[in-house]
Amino acid sequence: MSDHSITIVPRQSAYPDKEIKAKEILDWLVSLDIVKPTLSDCVLSSNDGYPISEGAKNISSEPDLLPFGLWTSGLEIITERQVFHTGQNGMEELICPSCKQDIANEDWDFLSEWGDNKSNNLTCPLCNDSTDIHQFNFTPNWGFSDLGFTFWNWSQFTDKFLEDFKQKLNCDIDLVYTWI
Ligand SMILES: [Zn+2]
Repeated sequence: MSDHSITIVPRQSAYPDKEIKAKEILDWLVSLDIVKPTLSDCVLSSNDGYPISEGAKNISSEPDLLPFGLWTSGLEIITERQVFHTGQNGMEELICPSCKQDIANEDWDFLSEWGDNKSNNLTCPLCNDSTDIHQFNFTPNWGFSDLGFTFWNWSQFTDKFLEDFKQKLNCDIDLVYTWI
């Protein structure tokens, strides 16, 4: 069986005091019994994650599809600058905010400007305009930040939970669906 994940990513390239915010969000999720507080080997990464817990059923719109009993079922918290991409879901369309052209089929080297932390912008290979990466329109959604919350093999969240998450982060979010 292939694995998938949903990552909640703030729409900010550099999140202020990200470590403090990561801890605050973790405490919030633990207080609702959504994840367990102790790290274990439950995510598809070299890092450890926080295991799923019973309260996850309250914030899922498809609780029967939650990954209880699966090994890969935890929450991974990322606090390093990262391109949160969609894996096999790929990139169908990437629209430049200046020239409105689709640059998804151009050489993806232009992404390294952000990935290498040279800038929080992307430079469009067609019109050469440099714009904040979050002004570009990715389909499906990709995420660009130094903070992210990846839930491995979880089903869809409720709208209420996503609203609460936005409030905790105090900014808009990208939801990134990844297939491995
Ligand atoms: Zn352009």
